[in-house]
Amino acid sequence: MINIHKVSKWYGSFQVLSDCSTQIRKGEVVVVCGPSGSGKSTLIKCVNALESIQQGDIVVDGMSVTDPKINLNQLRSRVGMVFQHFELFPHLSITENLTLPQIRVLKRSESEARRKALGLLERVGLSAHAHKFPAQLSGGQQQRVAIARALAMDPIAMLFDEPTSALDPEMVNEVLDVMVQLARDGMTMMCVTHEMGFARKVAHRVIFMDRGVIVEDCDKESFFGSPHARSERAQQFLSKIL
Ligand code: ATP
Ligand code: MG
Repeated sequence: MINIHKVSKWYGSFQVLSDCSTQIRKGEVVVVCGPSGSGKSTLIKCVNALESIQQGDIVVDGMSVTDPKINLNQLRSRVGMVFQHFELFPHLSITENLTLPQIRVLKRSESEARRKALGLLERVGLSAHAHKFPAQLSGGQQQRVAIARALAMDPIAMLFDEPTSALDPEMVNEVLDVMVQLARDGMTMMCVTHEMGFARKVAHRVIFMDRGVIVEDCDKESFFGSPHARSERAQQFLSKIL
């Protein structure tokens, strides 16, 4: 589904990703963690071509990000992305936030887009807020709208970059609950997060990055279960956040 093959990337002379390889299969939930500046956000942005790569390749459902003829709108609608900051359209209502991309990019009719939007708002528990504007919602609610907006495009995979780290603590769980449900429904997910409770609950695999390198890439059981098998850097990191 997502094949990351020997990816290297530089910002000027600074190498931010070094020879990163991993595969995410259909229905798999992979958590990416690691210290600040290790390249997690950069790697995830390369997957939907928000950042370019200089070596290697990433192929998402047959679409290669290094193909000069790639249809970026198609790639980005097929791979939903949710960031730390919600980035909803402030001048559109919650419903319009969900319908407009469907109408513009997928050429759905207004009524079809609306039906889809209302169904998804119900799924994330926000039906009662459909007519409001983003500024009238809490951070946790806005983030759930951002997830629903990405889902409205019928993505084949979802990327998350620390979706709960900018939220007040009492709102973290409402967003994680939506993500857990999504994972249990079989969505393919690549999630940068330090929420190890989430990782333990639904992740199939955990990737640990350090200084642009994928240091660990193993199933959840061995990541949390066998300290001896883990690199020293990963052990240090885990001892700080657990
Ligand atoms: P955090 O946990 O703080 O979000 P991260 O693992 O997501 O960190 P990245 O944001 O991917 O790390 O950044 C990796 C490295 O690349 C950092 O050293 C960062 O300063 C650098 N970097 C990121 N974006 C740029 C850019 N546009 N230009 C130059 N350097 C950048
Ligand atoms: Mg980051």
